[in-house]
Amino acid sequence: MPDIGFLNGRFMPLEQAMIPVEDRGFQFGDGVYEVIRTYRGIPYQLEAHLARLERSAQAIGLSMPYCVPEWREFVKEGIRLGGHDESKVYIQVTRGVAPRDHVFPAATSPTAVLTVRALRPLDAALRATGVGAATLEDLRWGRCDIKSVNLLPNVMARQKAKEAGAFEAVFVRDGKVTEGAVSNVMVVRGGVLATAPEGERILSGVTRSVVLALARQEGVTVQEQAVSLEELRRADEVFLTGTTVEILAVVRLDGAPIGTGRPGKLTGLLSARFQASLG
Ligand code: PLP
Repeated sequence: MPDIGFLNGRFMPLEQAMIPVEDRGFQFGDGVYEVIRTYRGIPYQLEAHLARLERSAQAIGLSMPYCVPEWREFVKEGIRLGGHDESKVYIQVTRGVAPRDHVFPAATSPTAVLTVRALRPLDAALRATGVGAATLEDLRWGRCDIKSVNLLPNVMARQKAKEAGAFEAVFVRDGKVTEGAVSNVMVVRGGVLATAPEGERILSGVTRSVVLALARQEGVTVQEQAVSLEELRRADEVFLTGTTVEILAVVRLDGAPIGTGRPGKLTGLLSARFQASLG
């Protein structure tokens, strides 16, 4: 099945989708994005992702080329055209094409891009054993709540994590855990589930809010409060949440075991509840 591209209202084979060199997304990283996956062919939490896309665009003063119902139809049409069993949909909107100048251009229409590829699920063995993570200083800017395409610090951190033999980079700012390079970080201590609060230091993950709601339904005490690096190291369980990782146990941090060094009980319970909630 083909990989699908979409550029400013038109679907095409992905390799035919081309962006001009002076697109501000390319020149300045002046744009926002979303990643959405399907379960059983249906885009998961589509409304939450489209709402966040609108929030991100608004936060950078970017007027959206399409309203939510239009995006909804484009996403569904892209998934249909791709014909994959499960799809990964990427949406990007930039401030458009204009001669290079930092100041917003007076009259430029945004560039809207969508790609649809076959979803490659995470290796089942990794999911069963859990993964390693490496802690790194959070060098990102002050508005991590905006899902902007400026991902260089995330790229650098994930590369460093890979070189250290770890799956994910866990960012630490002022001694407090913020989030992962591609995920939110959840910490279990004495049966209490803690994670960094929403705000400008983290991306408010769609999966994060689903998982916190599931935990509360299970009667688990949830603390949306800063977790220190020391508390992270001494946690009973740590797991990641995100569209691509779903719920993924972290069993090693900077080479040292977390808890028993195996995926923990609450991580397993919430993974089961999460899978069950998918229908
Ligand atoms: N934090 C960061 C920095 C991310 O890039 C992502 C996902 O891409 C997440 C958290 C998880 O967000 P979501 O659950 O909406 O995929």
